[in-house]
Formats: sequence, structure tokens, C-alpha cells
Amino acid sequence: MLIKQVPLSGVITTNGYFYIDEQSRHGLLIDAAAEPEVLAQIIKENDWVIEKILLTHGHFDHIGAVAQLHRQLGVPYYIYEVGKEMLRRPEFNLSAFMGDEIVLDGAQSLADGEVVAIETQPKMALKVIHVPGHTPDSAVFYDADNKVAFVGDTIFKGSVGATHFPLGDEAALKRSIKEKIMSLPEDTILYSGHSEPTTVANERDNPFLISV
Ligand SMILES: [Zn+2]
Repeated sequence: MLIKQVPLSGVITTNGYFYIDEQSRHGLLIDAAAEPEVLAQIIKENDWVIEKILLTHGHFDHIGAVAQLHRQLGVPYYIYEVGKEMLRRPEFNLSAFMGDEIVLDGAQSLADGEVVAIETQPKMALKVIHVPGHTPDSAVFYDADNKVAFVGDTIFKGSVGATHFPLGDEAALKRSIKEKIMSLPEDTILYSGHSEPTTVANERDNPFLISV
């Protein structure tokens, strides 16, 4: 298994992640955040086949390269079911306030508990865990065998996701982190949208969670 973290520059910098089976060179892209040319170049250089794009949530800074990669490479994209509405509506994905409206109408739905495996390597599989709070559609993609989780903007190294945007819910965020993320094995590596990787154990003293 190979995980490649790629910081992508848009209005802000967001991490995209390649989750790749090195043997078959097939894999998934988590959060085609921005800079589609950079992502396409990495895919080409490595001779990878990206089967699907998975989106941790429908905020503008996580979806900026989706349209072009979908068009250019024919890759389908997936989001937790209620996120389809965020992708369709610039006032929900917040692109309406960034000068360049994003409207994505062709997403496939993910359900809580669903497992998305790499077609050529079924041992590499990500379970969808719904973690509402930062947004109603936030999802974690969790590989229990390899002890990795892609957590989007729900939790960061030493911090947690913002909830002051439309559709944010602080109580739900804290509940989701406590019940769905801090309950994973201690050595699970957490890959977030805007920080260096961390682990469940490391976040036991996350200052935003002390009171949870
Ligand atoms: Zn976000």
C-alpha cells in the first residue's frame, strides 16, 4: 500500500491523497482539492489507474479539481449521500463566496458503512464512516487492515474542523470525533485535509477535545 499526500494550492492549501496498490498500480484519489494539472501529471508519471475519486465533504477547497479530472480521465466521483446537494449549490460548498462558483452535478452516493475497495486489490478497502459536524456530509474513509483513516476536515493534528460556516454543527462535530474517530485503534494514522498526519493516540490531548 502506498499513500501519497499532495498539498494542493487553491484559495487555501488542501491535502489530496492517493491511496494506491503498488502491485496493480490501481488506486483511489481522496479529495481532488485543486490543481487538476498537478494531479493528472502525478497519475501519468506513475502510470496509475485511478478508479474513483472519494470526497471527504463538499467544501470548495476539497473539490476544485473534480470537474476537470472527471472530464479528462473519466473518473467517477463519490460523496456521502447528502453531499450531492453541497456539490450542486455554491452557497453550501462555499464557492459562491470565493469568486469562482463550483457546481458539480454528477456525483455518486456513498452510504454510512459502505466499503469501497480497489477493484484489482480487494485487501485495500475503505469503509465510509459518516461524521457530521464540520459539514452534514463529512465522511471518514477508514482502512482497518492498514490502520489508516482519511478524516477530511473533521480533526487535524492538534485541532478540529471549523463549524462556523453554514451547515456546521459544533455539538455534532464533537460527538462524531469522540464516537467515530477516537474509538478507532490508538495507532491508526489520521490523514487530514489541512495538517500533517497524526494518530488517534496523539490526539488524546488535542486541546479542542479536552472537554469532550
Ligand atoms: Zn471543509
